Amino acid sequence: MAKIIDGKSLARTIRNELKREIEILKPQLGRAPGLAVVLVGDDPASYIYVGNKEKAAAEIGMAGQVIRMPATASLSEIIASVDKLNADDSVDGMIVQMPLPPGLDEASVLNRIDPNKDADGLHPMNLGRLVAGMPGPRSCTPAGVMRLIDTTGIELKGAKAVVIGRSEMVGKPMAHLLLERHATVTICHSRTKDLADEVHRADIVVAAVGRPELVRGEWIKEGAVVIDVGTTRVEGKLKGDVEFDQAATRASAITPVPGGVGPMTIAMLLANTVAIAKQKLL
Ligand code: NAP
Repeated sequence: MAKIIDGKSLARTIRNELKREIEILKPQLGRAPGLAVVLVGDDPASYIYVGNKEKAAAEIGMAGQVIRMPATASLSEIIASVDKLNADDSVDGMIVQMPLPPGLDEASVLNRIDPNKDADGLHPMNLGRLVAGMPGPRSCTPAGVMRLIDTTGIELKGAKAVVIGRSEMVGKPMAHLLLERHATVTICHSRTKDLADEVHRADIVVAAVGRPELVRGEWIKEGAVVIDVGTTRVEGKLKGDVEFDQAATRASAITPVPGGVGPMTIAMLLANTVAIAKQKLL
């Protein structure tokens, strides 16, 4: 039976470490590190995510602010908010909560964020830094996944890793982080011919699709590490991309949904913000 990878507990440990770091940083900076979140519209899931981020920031002594904008906000109004935060010296890190209401061009908003304040690590310049092997804020969810994988003790060097999903937010940066650690990486997507076969050969499986139980338990190789990024709300409950119970009988370690990747995404957002603030002291 697989070890259940406890993302909640690891995220709590990381937040506690960050809290201690902030206590040291505050007098040096003359203020608390600042995280700003722009929230446009009234998507209920986004409200919950932003509320969780706000709470987590406050708990570790970070100065959090949420700029709430109506769903009717225009692209130029959203960009004006981003510009204001770019110019605000008390804001170290910022994010624009995705998705934006329909009809708004997300890329042009993301591209407007000052890459040096990009707490989500999603600005094309920071994705480019990742691909080029240069330091910079890494995308939060994939960075959190790496920390979860590291708790299992699996040797990444030479391991066969399969990432299912190729989004800019999760799949692509995920594959690069694994590659950076010398795994042999295969990226699967909706046009992959034989997903079962790809998964079956993997020592590490990261599923980031958003289709409940797409990954069947019987596909998992004995002893593999399985990380389930997927979150889909089904009848009020969050469901992952992996058929958990069956996969857990074959895997050596597996993340639950919820309580796996989700808490780590927020912890990495806070960690990126603290890292950006620290850069200002150099
Ligand atoms: P996305 O942009 O919709 O990308 C989904 C990816 O899955 C695409 O690359 C797509 O392939 C691929 N895909 C779709 N159907 C497939 C199939 N049948 N077989 C193989 N691949 C398939 O989603 P995302 O933003 O990356 O998010 C993925 C999931 O992670 C979602 O459930 C999201 O809610 C969750 N998520 C969770 C967290 C967290 O903190 N827990 C953070 C971010 C995202 P194509 O490119 O070919 O279309």
